[in-house]
Amino acid sequence: MVTENRVADTWKAVLGKLQIQVTRPSYDTWLKGTVGLSCISGEMVIGVPNAFVAEMLDRRMHSLISKTLTDVLGKEHTLRFEITGSVSPAEHDDVESALSQPEERQPAQSMTIRGTRINPRYTFESFVVGKSNELAHAASLAVAESPGTSYNPLFIYSDVGLGKTHLLNSIGLRLSAKGLSLEYATTEEFTNGYIKAIREGKTDDFRDRYRSADILLLDDIQFIIGKEQTQEGFFHTFNSLHASSRQIVITCDRPATHLMLLEDRIRSRLTGGLVVDIQRPDLETRQAILGSKADAIGVHFPIEVLEFLAEKVDSNIRDLEGCLNRISAYTQLTSSRVSLEIAERCVNDILHLGGARKRVSEIEILETVCGYFAIDQASVKGKGRDKPTTLARQVAMYLLREESKLPLSAIGRFLGGKDHTTVLHAHQRISNQISSNSHLRKDLANLREELARL
Ligand code: ADP
Ligand code: MG
Repeated sequence: MVTENRVADTWKAVLGKLQIQVTRPSYDTWLKGTVGLSCISGEMVIGVPNAFVAEMLDRRMHSLISKTLTDVLGKEHTLRFEITGSVSPAEHDDVESALSQPEERQPAQSMTIRGTRINPRYTFESFVVGKSNELAHAASLAVAESPGTSYNPLFIYSDVGLGKTHLLNSIGLRLSAKGLSLEYATTEEFTNGYIKAIREGKTDDFRDRYRSADILLLDDIQFIIGKEQTQEGFFHTFNSLHASSRQIVITCDRPATHLMLLEDRIRSRLTGGLVVDIQRPDLETRQAILGSKADAIGVHFPIEVLEFLAEKVDSNIRDLEGCLNRISAYTQLTSSRVSLEIAERCVNDILHLGGARKRVSEIEILETVCGYFAIDQASVKGKGRDKPTTLARQVAMYLLREESKLPLSAIGRFLGGKDHTTVLHAHQRISNQISSNSHLRKDLANLREELARL
């Protein structure tokens, strides 16, 4: 029997291997939301979000998954898919981040520039411009035309799935085609590299690597929050590049002013050039993007289906793409044509997956957390500092912040008159532990599932 943690790790390893064997759309559509549940007596049970995915994996990828699992575990296992409902975003992100380790990326679909990967499909040509993103697009083009001159740094922010990484890659591709040397990294990679350099006493090498670049492209700078050492490393790298007019482009999931726990000197550096945001695309742009994506995958989508999708999916472009991929996979598998009926079915699945849940109340959150950890509400609202109570309290604060729209001070008041900084720190603590602590991850996934069932 393999323990719970090992099962999760095993499945992550399998996903890592599968990711380089299947196309990205396939991976995103069918495998991304799955989790390893148990591995007992030669049977591996995999949690999947819904019956549709279970059916597809069983029919289409069974032997590939089975073979890959054998590679990882060293012996054959039978596979069973169990429907567990949607996977929480935290769990999702974690699988994602485990997969984004350098050695696990898709070598066939990305090209290497100075040891980092750039997605060759994310070009300016494939980027559809509309009102919501025209400024970010124009600024990115300007930077790619004359780096290091006018807009330095360029800071692009938006909600998830609206094209930041796409634009960052487009800039990278344009500039590397001009023969400039590039450092492109997610902030996670930057952080890991820096921590490793410190551990191995090689910070000089790290600095040289980044400081010798003509351009630094750093994706998702929000991950630098709370990481003081990395902030220091970033600050010096930034300054030396900026001082010699090398272009820096940074993306973030929120405006720099909302980056709490970030040193002021860094915040002012980030916003010292040009700051642009990307908004959600309007209906017309969504339709144009869908049309261009459908062309790119070479599947005919009738206009009424594109209209239906553009109307229905207004959250972000990643979800729009997810729908297209799902519909095209479904029609290929069943040798059918794309129709409104199939589109409706797929969209329902995606929206169900994508966390379009109803909002739960703060009381429901508190009750759920207390029930789950078997701690009474008075203790969570009280001052006791024993481990179980502290954990329940911090998780409650975390979930209240994530799931309700209450301000920090209101969450503090609700939980027995705590200070807003206490709530902030609890949120930070739990966020930081999510990636390394699989028990906590599981607790949060379970709690989110309970909340989703309310
Ligand atoms: P972010 O980094 O903001 O989370 P991404 O850049 O990863 O978002 O975009 C999500 C997906 O949507 C990608 O596949 C990307 O190619 C696509 N996308 C986003 N904006 C556009 C656009 N304007 N035109 C075409 N595709 C887009
Ligand atoms: Mg991104």
